[in-house]
Amino acid sequence: MKKYLFKRITALVLSLVLFSSCVSGCTGIEEKEYFDTCFIAMDTQITLRLARDSGVKDGRKTIYHEDTALEAIAAECANLAAQTESIFSRTDENSLTYEINSEADSFFELDNEFCELLKRSYDISDKTEGYFDVTLGSVTELWNVTGEEPSVPSEDEINEALSHCGKDKIVLSGSSIIKNDRKAKLDFGAVAKGLALSKIIDYLNTTEVLYGLVSFGGNVAVFGNKYDTKEQIVKYKVGITDPADTSKVVGYIYIENGYVSVSGDYERYFEADTVKYHHIMDPKTGKPADSDISSVSVICNNGALADALSTALFVMGSEKAVQYYESGVYSFEAVITKKDGTTIVTDGLTESGAFEKYIEPVEE
Ligand code: AMP
Ligand code: MG
Repeated sequence: MKKYLFKRITALVLSLVLFSSCVSGCTGIEEKEYFDTCFIAMDTQITLRLARDSGVKDGRKTIYHEDTALEAIAAECANLAAQTESIFSRTDENSLTYEINSEADSFFELDNEFCELLKRSYDISDKTEGYFDVTLGSVTELWNVTGEEPSVPSEDEINEALSHCGKDKIVLSGSSIIKNDRKAKLDFGAVAKGLALSKIIDYLNTTEVLYGLVSFGGNVAVFGNKYDTKEQIVKYKVGITDPADTSKVVGYIYIENGYVSVSGDYERYFEADTVKYHHIMDPKTGKPADSDISSVSVICNNGALADALSTALFVMGSEKAVQYYESGVYSFEAVITKKDGTTIVTDGLTESGAFEKYIEPVEE
């Protein structure tokens, strides 16, 4: 095995600190370990850190990938995100999801990718007792938390919207769907970024880039293997934002591969009469989940699942979320930050030492 000498880096979830040099840091400086770049897709900034080392040595000299080659790889990643958005966006008038959500028709032929994600989402919904629910579109549209002038809907409006939710309203049959309720709407907001991230990582694994990291809103993924001088795999240190003060972290997760997805009440919300209304809805009430959780980070080996589970666990609340972890329905780890400021770390993370709590330095 070849030896690589690398520095450990820190990736802050939901923070672009690491990538702030992404515009100036992209060109021709051979000593730089990474090619950094960023682009916007799905209303979110996506940042890529691609290792520049090609793994080939010329005598003692490392041969780096050409910047133009890495730019082309980054462009393909941007394409994959844009293509995912063009299918699953709830707001893009040209997307298939938008077309299905319109009230015009009740029968739709699906392409393979749409069919797969809908099937997967319904399955995750079944396995999370409905806490994750992609049929909540009429409710999320009503609240319109990220819209221009969101306001608190009336109980009647909420109940009306809720009456159009449920898998029985949008039935998947082979490669088509039948809408039994024309007002029913799909919302893939809790899973599509994770899917896009999985697609990007699957693609990067087919390229000659040896290792790197992709950050996409509340989702981060690490790919490839990075070695230190002792030929040990180097882990990435991913900071978990403190919901009470987003300039701080509650701790760090160390990962060498896989996905971290964060759902938090501080990410998207509006305020009315000093009450905060966040974007993660309880499918049972049709309102922002009244959870004792402020943020939940899920670590697992699939991007779409990590994304969907972080949303579901948030809605469950901490007690149920821990029971769910212990039930073993899915294999994942999690860090839960509660509203009271305490943090719950799942057993797998504690036992492997992969979580490090942040300890505020004591002033002298
Ligand atoms: P995330 O930030 O991944 O937790 O996803 C939240 C987004 O998913 C929201 O902005 C909504 O578009 C949608 N959403 C909200 N509540 C739910 C839920 N309980 N199940 C599935 N999707 C949801
Ligand atoms: Mg999610």
